[in-house]
Order: sequence, then C-alpha cells, then structure tokens
Amino acid sequence: MIDINKFTRKNIKKLIPYQSARRIKDNGDIWLNANELPFVQKKTFLFNNLNRYPDKEYKVLLQSYSQYIKISYKNILATRGSDEAIELLIKAFCEPKKDYIMIFPPTYDMYKVYANILNVKVISILQLKNFQIDLINLKKLIQKVKLIYICNPNNPTSTLINRTDIIEILKFTKNKCLVVIDEAYIEFCLQQTAIDLMYKFDHLIILRTLSKAFGLASIRCGFIIAHINIINVIKKIIAPYPLSTPTLQIAQSFLVKSNLIILQKNILELNKNKKILIQELKKLPYIEKIFPSSTNFILVCFNSSNKVFVQLLKHKIVTRDQNFKVLLKNCIRISVGTYKECMNLINIFKVIQIK
Ligand SMILES: *Cc1c(COP(=O)(O)O)cnc(C)c1O
Repeated sequence: MIDINKFTRKNIKKLIPYQSARRIKDNGDIWLNANELPFVQKKTFLFNNLNRYPDKEYKVLLQSYSQYIKISYKNILATRGSDEAIELLIKAFCEPKKDYIMIFPPTYDMYKVYANILNVKVISILQLKNFQIDLINLKKLIQKVKLIYICNPNNPTSTLINRTDIIEILKFTKNKCLVVIDEAYIEFCLQQTAIDLMYKFDHLIILRTLSKAFGLASIRCGFIIAHINIINVIKKIIAPYPLSTPTLQIAQSFLVKSNLIILQKNILELNKNKKILIQELKKLPYIEKIFPSSTNFILVCFNSSNKVFVQLLKHKIVTRDQNFKVLLKNCIRISVGTYKECMNLINIFKVIQIK
C-alpha cells in the first residue's frame, strides 16, 4: 500500500478539512443545515456548444451582474462559488509562513481552512459578546496582516456588523492591508451592502454568490467585486476557463429582470417564514435565546443543543449544531425553509422532550 504521508505536504497532513453540510452525512427529509434556498427553480436549457471552451458567455454574465449591482463589469470577476474567491485572494496576496489573514470567530470556516491549506498564518480575534468586531484588538494586531475577512451578515450568527465599525476599519486599514467583506447573505438585508463604500475605499473587496438567495448553489458561481488593479492580480492566477458554459448561461438567465422579481418574492417569503418561526420558537421552554437574524437562517441557543439536534434528526430534520464553536455553546443554526417545512419544524419542536 502506498505511504502517501511520505509525499503529502506537512500542513496538509495536519489539515482539518471543512465539514460541509454534504460531508456530514446526516439522514433526513427536511434540509435546514446548509442555508440553501428551499424553493426549486425549474428551468430547462439547451446547450449546443459544449465541445468549445466558454468564450463570450463570461463577459455577458459580468455585464448582467454589473447591471444588477450597478458597478462596472471591469470591477467584477466571476469565480467557482465565492469559496474559490476566498482562496484566490489568499493565494494572490499572502506570502506563505509570513503574512497573516485576520478573522473574527465565530465566523465562516473557509477563511481559516484556505489559509491553512496555503500555509498562511491566521490571527483570530474573538467577536465581542454582542457579535461585533473588537476594534481595539484589530488595531493592535494589524501589523503583519494582508487580508481581513469580515462576513456581513455573519455566518453562523446571522447578525450584522455595525456600518460605523466597517467604515472605521476601512479608514484605519487604508495603505495597511486589504479588507474583504463576504456578502453571501446580503440579499436578505440589501440596504446593508458595502458596495457604495467601494467608491471611497480602493482596498475594499466584496464577495458575492448565487448560492444563497438566488437559489443556485449547484451551479457554483460567485463574484469578486474590487478595484480593477485588484481584479487584474486575481486574473493572473485564476484557472483558465474557470466557469463552465452551463454555469455561465444559467447564471446569466437568473439575472434578467423577470427573475430578479422572483428573487425579491422569494426573499419576502423567506423573511415572512422566518418571522413566524421565531415567534413560535420563542414560546418553547427549552430555548434560551434566539439571536436577531438578517439572513435566511437563525441561530438558536438551547439548554442542550446536542439533545435538540439528535431529537430533530430522529424526526428527519437536519440542522447544524454549532456547540463546538467559540461563543456558541449550545447553539444550533437553522436555515429557514418553505412555509410547510417551518410548520413541520415547529410541530416537531412542540412534541420533542428535552430534559
Ligand atoms: C455559503 C457561503 C459561502 C460560499 O458560497 P459558494 O458561493 O457556494 O462557494 C461563502 N461565504 C459564506 C459566509 C457562506 O455562508
């Protein structure tokens, strides 16, 4: 048998891989663990050019997304999900074993995972108890940092970072490092976007995705929005033909006006379901706290998250236990589903026994 350890890079041997919702093989009927849109979007496509590498489809997509966010297409790069964007930025800007990225746990795990893969060091500054950024420590520890990753609204807490803090960070970091704001869930609270700050701050990079509100997780399409000089550096290292022709065409078709209206409708419906869900959960005796949510998921603190998680799973409802994360003891993250799924969940919650 091959001793693959002999050939594997040291940091990859030590690497703890990302536990994606798909990697954790829970059994269930109702999937509330990956923050996907619960609505199925039925569409058929005809492709008659699959023998060719993608060509003008890439620019057509950028132009459509450009119209949607009202930023020039020259400031946009499409990537294989925003996960690839997270990786490309570290790859392009951080010297292995020398530079640092800065993150604010509890937050999205992939910033750290990609830093670990690329042998780039990580400074983690715990969020304050109100889930805001600790600005004092940020300023203290900024020296060797090349990239700051801010997830807004944040996953898994579903909370927003104060806009005044974001502006203060941008002012403070000017000429010191780059600031990445991951807006994976921004469509659920669009007025909170930092897009407008791009005009003022050249070192601001925004990440977007079609995986969440747009309901297109399967096609793997994300975007980097940044100053053209930043985009040009990333273009040097991105794979040739990064997105497939089907992805480009499907993505583009969801950015036309009629589909943007459906997007708005879906968001309204999910926000309505979320309100009902929170109202009903608040009545349960074994719930300690529901955090304010600006996303399509909620973070709930129980008196014993593990018992709740297991009980839900017995009823085929899959959620995401966050108990092992800093500041999130006994917390479970629950994606907001369809109205029917929310009702099912509420009914199960009413009957399960937590002692
Ligand atoms: C889901 C998610 C992503 C990844 O999205 P893809 O575009 O599917 O790669 C990035 N950031 C956050 C915070 C997410 O929750």
